[in-house]
Amino acid sequence: MNVNTLIENYKQMYHAFKSRYDRFIIGYSYKTNYIPLLCQEMYKLGAYAEVVSRLEYDFAIKIGVDPKKIIFNGPLKSQDDINYALKNESIINLDSFYEIDFVKSYAFNHPNSIVKIGLRVNFDITEDSITQLADGFEMSRFGICEENGDLKRAIDLLESVTNIKIVGLHGHFSTTGRRIESYKRITQELCHFVKKYKLNHIEYIDIGGGISGNVPKSLREYSPTFDEYGEAICAVMNHEFSHYANPPALILEPGISMVGNVFEFVSKVVGIKNIKENCFVLVDGSVHNIKPTFNKKKLPINFLRQHHEEKQVTENFHIVGYTCLEKDYLIYDAVAELPKIGDYILFQNVGAYTIVYNPPFIKERPAIIGIDNQKIFEVRKKETIKQFFNEEIYCFGKQEIRL
Ligand SMILES: *Cc1c(COP(=O)(O)O)cnc(C)c1O
Repeated sequence: MNVNTLIENYKQMYHAFKSRYDRFIIGYSYKTNYIPLLCQEMYKLGAYAEVVSRLEYDFAIKIGVDPKKIIFNGPLKSQDDINYALKNESIINLDSFYEIDFVKSYAFNHPNSIVKIGLRVNFDITEDSITQLADGFEMSRFGICEENGDLKRAIDLLESVTNIKIVGLHGHFSTTGRRIESYKRITQELCHFVKKYKLNHIEYIDIGGGISGNVPKSLREYSPTFDEYGEAICAVMNHEFSHYANPPALILEPGISMVGNVFEFVSKVVGIKNIKENCFVLVDGSVHNIKPTFNKKKLPINFLRQHHEEKQVTENFHIVGYTCLEKDYLIYDAVAELPKIGDYILFQNVGAYTIVYNPPFIKERPAIIGIDNQKIFEVRKKETIKQFFNEEIYCFGKQEIRL
């Protein structure tokens, strides 16, 4: 975990938007990587916490985040979750109608308080008949659909209660291209809905996350800079709200773009063998550590070698992991000087959707260390068998449940 890289990402992103639209807020997406030291660092920098479950919400509270700086998203919230978050005056974006009932019920029970609420909107971001959504989906399953009148219905339901105010619209889309055009569109649509439905109490426009970060060209051909995103998105906001005495805040919820390049995974070469003409380099890590989604991307790598050959010969080899899965390839067909047993391989750009999305499968979780200027510190200790088979949750021997 490279704290300097994290700080650099935050500052670049913040400046790119804040310099163009003053009321700008970054809500860091916890699910992308909720290592405590990372989230604490984000909060120190000024980021809000964007959470998508009660677990993440409680975790944000645990590390000292001001509840007013928590953005509670996600499709699953209970009546208790909603009550708690409303009482705490957190920012909440509703995803479905069942949550509207919870909010109304809270509002009825608290007639003297103003209940502020946001809505996640579902709309179409198809461009030239080509879906932009990740994994080729034709439509998103999240948010309340505008096209079929549901958004109108949701607004009416909420506005029928005098002490409920709709203060925000939210539109997060996970797209393949992370294209600037998509973000212009998302921002434009949300602004349009504010006017169309006369949301006079609007306090924020939340365009979600999904933007591209500082990634090497080998991983992503098209990767706009934070400035390019900021330019396009803020232009829409300025155009729509310049005449407002009190323009709404713009919220961005970065995940991958904030932490992707902040982490590297280090693994040691344990064995080398040939099968037919193919060379396999076995390491003490697994594809689970670096690509739990098994995507086909070849992550950039570096080698820490104990010896340097005079004559460097490039070879083709596969880097494979410790699990018993045939598909456990960290890199398929790497082209480099063949490492030796005891050398280390560093996989870069592994900060997003890895550590948190990583079933400890067959082997315990590895340690994580941080680096901050010249200082090196512990971020997470290596898991022990006692922690892996936590006796507070696993039972050793049958304990009857008495009904
Ligand atoms: C996952 C998620 C994000 C972050 O997405 P990235 O692609 O990692 O930037 C932001 N907002 C919401 C609602 C999310 O679900």
